[in-house]
Amino acid sequence: MPRKDRRPRLATRLVRGGQTRSQHKETAEAIFMTSGFVYDSAAEADARFAGASPGYLYGRYANPTVRMFEERLMALEGPIPGHDGAEECLAVGSGMAAVNAALLANLKAGDRVIGARAMFASCLWILDTLLPRLGVDVVLVDGEDLDQWRDAAKPGVALALLESPSNPMLGAVDIKAVADIIHSAGGKLIVDNVFASPLLQKPFALGADIVVYSATKHMDGQGRTLAGAILASKELIDGGVREFLRHTGPAISPFNAWVLVKGLETIALRVERQCANAARIADALAGHVKIERLFYPSRADHPHHALHARQMSAGGTMIAFDVAGGGAGAWRFLDALELIDISNNLGDAKSLATHPATTTHRRLTDEARARIGVQEGSVRLSVGLEDADDLIEDLILALDSV
Ligand SMILES: *Cc1c(COP(=O)(O)O)cnc(C)c1O
Repeated sequence: MPRKDRRPRLATRLVRGGQTRSQHKETAEAIFMTSGFVYDSAAEADARFAGASPGYLYGRYANPTVRMFEERLMALEGPIPGHDGAEECLAVGSGMAAVNAALLANLKAGDRVIGARAMFASCLWILDTLLPRLGVDVVLVDGEDLDQWRDAAKPGVALALLESPSNPMLGAVDIKAVADIIHSAGGKLIVDNVFASPLLQKPFALGADIVVYSATKHMDGQGRTLAGAILASKELIDGGVREFLRHTGPAISPFNAWVLVKGLETIALRVERQCANAARIADALAGHVKIERLFYPSRADHPHHALHARQMSAGGTMIAFDVAGGGAGAWRFLDALELIDISNNLGDAKSLATHPATTTHRRLTDEARARIGVQEGSVRLSVGLEDADDLIEDLILALDSV
């Protein structure tokens, strides 16, 4: 293959993808901390606004540093051989801004939206509170039950939203099967791919139309910024998402985009190590007398193990488990941790543990929580980059104190 046609491999794309150098030829990517741009003449401004001359217009629309982040993420997400993959990416100020735009840019009153009920709490608020208020007909289904998806899609559907692995209990949804159901009913599928990260699961290859991320999680990976991204075909982005973002304004700061450009340089190494740590920890904790159930996607005892194995290239950086003694047991365990922090963030270099029933999922009724498998004793663990032996010691000592 001629040298210029060769596609660099993943590790190279993560370090080099999207970089544009200024006239100063800096080594690291530059931070263009500017809200606006100037034009050499009135005619040039006219041509730029008309789209006849390339160039930036205003920070709410686009920015060179933000563009480097978007292009680097596109280089990670796609294209996938035999498939278009990610043709376009737009970065926004948070993961929720990405989910919101992916939904609202593509909906009108009277449309139907189907969502898998085990989802991030704020995504669920958009579906069960905001969209119905706007006249959108929302149906929630148990994500693993394909019959429920089929029934909900019968009258036709505009959009579907799912997470796999789901938050917090790491259930799997069959992305390809759901994509087929939604497509035959005339709709588009949005996958929130945060828990898997763009390294481990490729939703476009499984039929997703739009992939959304909270870049706050593994892409930053060091707890510094809030950010989000929407990836889709050029047709979908230019058919409404870009316009929606331009005029509603959930823009990302160029500084935060720069943090993420640098974050993507190391994401493959970090996620690989975090997965290795998580797999060791899951094996060390499973069977502990103070743990009633443990969910880790690549363990053979995970109820959706086969599906996760088909969709994900590794077990991921998250573990969920039920501590003996219910809510009191879980709190005693969390309070006894000395190394691992209590926090609701995830994907971080620091290992973080959370009690979903009283934090991330407290808005849900007891019944709604039970339906997605969250018990009073459930704990969600985001595994970081510390030494796995130190993490295991901390976890076992805390469990022993329950
Ligand atoms: C964190 C998260 C979000 C929201 O992202 P923010 O950056 O916090 O706005 C959405 N979906 C999932 C699965 C998440 O983990």
